[in-house]
Amino acid sequence: MTSDPRRPKFPLPLDAVVERKPAPARTAGMPAVGGARSVAAAAKARAAKAPVPVPVAAASAVQARASAATAGGGGMASERARGALAARLRAAGIRDERVLDAIATVPRHLFVEPGLASQGYEDAALPIGHHQTISKPSVVARMIELLRDGLAADEPLERVLEIGTGCGYQAAVLSLVAREVFSIERIRPLHEQAKANLRPLRVPNLRLHYGDGMLGLPQAAPFSSIILAAAGMEVPQALLEQLAVGGRLIAPVAVAPSPGGPGQTVTQQLLLIERRNRHRFHRTALEAVFFVPLKSGTI
Ligand code: SAH
Repeated sequence: MTSDPRRPKFPLPLDAVVERKPAPARTAGMPAVGGARSVAAAAKARAAKAPVPVPVAAASAVQARASAATAGGGGMASERARGALAARLRAAGIRDERVLDAIATVPRHLFVEPGLASQGYEDAALPIGHHQTISKPSVVARMIELLRDGLAADEPLERVLEIGTGCGYQAAVLSLVAREVFSIERIRPLHEQAKANLRPLRVPNLRLHYGDGMLGLPQAAPFSSIILAAAGMEVPQALLEQLAVGGRLIAPVAVAPSPGGPGQTVTQQLLLIERRNRHRFHRTALEAVFFVPLKSGTI
C-alpha cells in the first residue's frame, strides 16, 4: 500500500478539515459524525476557551478538539494522562508510532461514564452499560498495530470496517490511523451514545452504522481492514467475503474448550486473517484475549 500524493496526508491539519466539505457518504443512511458546516464556528469558539493555544498547523483535528473538549475539565491533566498511557503501551511493546500517537490523542475519559473518568487512562476494560465494555487500550493498540503491520507512520490504513462500535473509542483511534472508517453497533442505545461521544470531536472520516455487524456492510465493501471488537465462535463468512484481496482482518475468536475440563484454559484468542487471493485466506492464531460475545441481530 502506498500513499496517494493527490490526497491530503492524515492527520489533516485543522484548517484542511475546516475548509473541507464532508466526504460524500458512499452508503445511504450513515451520517458522518459531525459535519463541516459548524466546524469553523465551533473550533473558533473552543479555541477562545482553550487554556493553551493549539499549534494549528501541526495538530490533527481530533487533537485540537480533544484539547478544546476537555478545556476547563482537566484538559491538561488528561493530555498528560494520555501521553503516559501511550508511553506505557510503548514500554509494553507497541511499536507503531502512528498508533501510539492516536492513543496519546483520543480523550478516552470522555468515552466512559463520568463516574469512571478517573480510570479512563488505566489499561483496563471498563463497563459502558448494556453488559458491554470499552476495550483495554493495550488490546486496541495491539490489534490496530497488527492491521498496520508494514506501513510507515505517514501511511494510513485505507478503508476500515469495525464491528462493535460500543462507546466509539476504538473508532476514534482508528479514524486517526486510517483514511476511512465504518463502524457498526447492534445495540441502539450504544450506537446513539457513540454518536454523542464522538460529536464534539468532529471526526470527518468516520461513519457510524446501526445494524448487525455479522452481516458486514456490503454496500461499502470491500474493506482493506476489518476489526472485530467482540468474540464469535468463528469469523462470519460475510466479513471474509467483504475483505479486499491483500487485506487483513483481526478478530477475537472462541477456542474450543480443552478436554481437560475447566480451569485456567484459554477461551478466546486473537486471529489474524490475511486474504491472499479470491479463495485463499491465511490464518495466524495469536495471544489469548477476553472480549464480550459477538451476537447476531439488533436490539
Ligand atoms: N469498540 C469498543 C468496544 C465495544 S465492546 C471500544 O471502543 O472499546 C463490543 C461491542 O460489540 C459491544 O458494544 C457489542 O454490542 C457489539 N457487538 C456484538 N456483536 C455485534 C454485532 N453482531 N454487530 C455489531 N456490534 C456487535
